[in-house]
Amino acid sequence: MNRKLLIGKPVSENIKKSLVEKINSLSKKNIIPKLAAILVGDDPASKIYVKSKHKTFLKFNCQSEIHHFLNDSNENDICDLISRLNKDKSTHGILLQLPLPLHLNSKRILDSIDPNKDVDGLHPMNLGRLLQGNPNFIPCTPYGCLEILRYYKINVKSKHVVVIGRSNLVGKPIAALLSQKFDIGNSTVTLCHSQTKNLSKYTKMADVIIVAVGIPAMLKSNMVKKDAVVIDVGINRVDDDSQKGYHIIGDADYSSLINKVSSITPVPGGVGPMTITMLLNNTIASAEKTII
Ligand code: NAD
Repeated sequence: MNRKLLIGKPVSENIKKSLVEKINSLSKKNIIPKLAAILVGDDPASKIYVKSKHKTFLKFNCQSEIHHFLNDSNENDICDLISRLNKDKSTHGILLQLPLPLHLNSKRILDSIDPNKDVDGLHPMNLGRLLQGNPNFIPCTPYGCLEILRYYKINVKSKHVVVIGRSNLVGKPIAALLSQKFDIGNSTVTLCHSQTKNLSKYTKMADVIIVAVGIPAMLKSNMVKKDAVVIDVGINRVDDDSQKGYHIIGDADYSSLINKVSSITPVPGGVGPMTITMLLNNTIASAEKTII
C-alpha cells in the first residue's frame, strides 16, 4: 500500500462495500434509508455538494430529497419543515447544508433537528456525546479523516497531533475525537486557530497535522518537520484561465510538502470523497436504529 499519498477513493470504496450489505439487509425489512437535505440560497459550492450527495444516495438505492429555499427565506419556514421531517418516519437523516445566508440563525435551525436524525452530527446533544466519548453521529468530515488514518494504518496513539481550525464542523470535533480513548485516538492534541501566535512553533512539533482553515496553500513545508503526516481538509477555489474558470486546491501547499512529509492527502481526492461516504454511513446507521 502506498502510504505517501493518502487517497480517499479506496477508503471510501471499502466502506461503501460494507454499506451495500447493510442497505440490502434493510431493504429485506422494507426499510430504505432516506436523507432530506435542506439547501438555502444559491451558493454555487453548496448547490454542487447537495447535488452530489443526492446522486450518491440514489446510486446506492437509498432515497434522497432536496428542499430548496430561496435566499431570503424565513427561519420559521425552515424550522417548520424540519419539524415535519422530524416526525416523518420514512426520513432517517436531515442535513442542513452550511453556510446559510447571514440573516438566518444557523444555531437555532440546527438545534431544531431531531438529534436522532442529525446525520451531520452538529446538534449540541451529538457534539456533547462526542465530547463524552460516547458518540451518536460523528460529523462526516472528521469521521472521514479518522477512516483515512485507519485505512492507511497511521498510528496516532501517543503522537502529537496539531489541528489548525476550530470550527464546529471540522476542527473542534476532530480534536475531540483524536484525544479520546478510541482505537483511532489517544493522541496529544493541540488546537490552533486564527488567534494562535506563531503557528509554526506548534506545527513544527507535530507528528500529524490536520489543516481545516480555508486559506489556499497556507501550510508550507518550512512549517512542518520531516516525515510528518498531513491531512488537508481545505477546499479552495482558485481562479484560472481554464474553461471552468477555477481549480481546487487545499490548505496545504502540496507541491512543497510532498518531498518532506511521510504522508499527505491530495486535494482534490483525499478527504473530499470521504465526507459523502460517511453521510451515507450515518444515514444507514440511523435507519438501522429504527429496527425494533
Ligand atoms: P471555518 O471558516 O468555519 O473555520 C476556519 C477556521 O480556521 C477557524 O476556526 C479559524 O479560527 C481558523 N483560521 C482562520 N485563519 C487562520 C490562520 N491564519 N491560522 C490559523 N487558523 C486560522 O471553516 P470550516 O468549515 O472548518 O472549513 C475549513 C476548510 O475545510 C474550508 O476550506 C472548507 O471548504 C473545507 N471543508 C472541506 C470539507 C470536505 O468535505 N473535505 C468539509 C468541510 C469543510
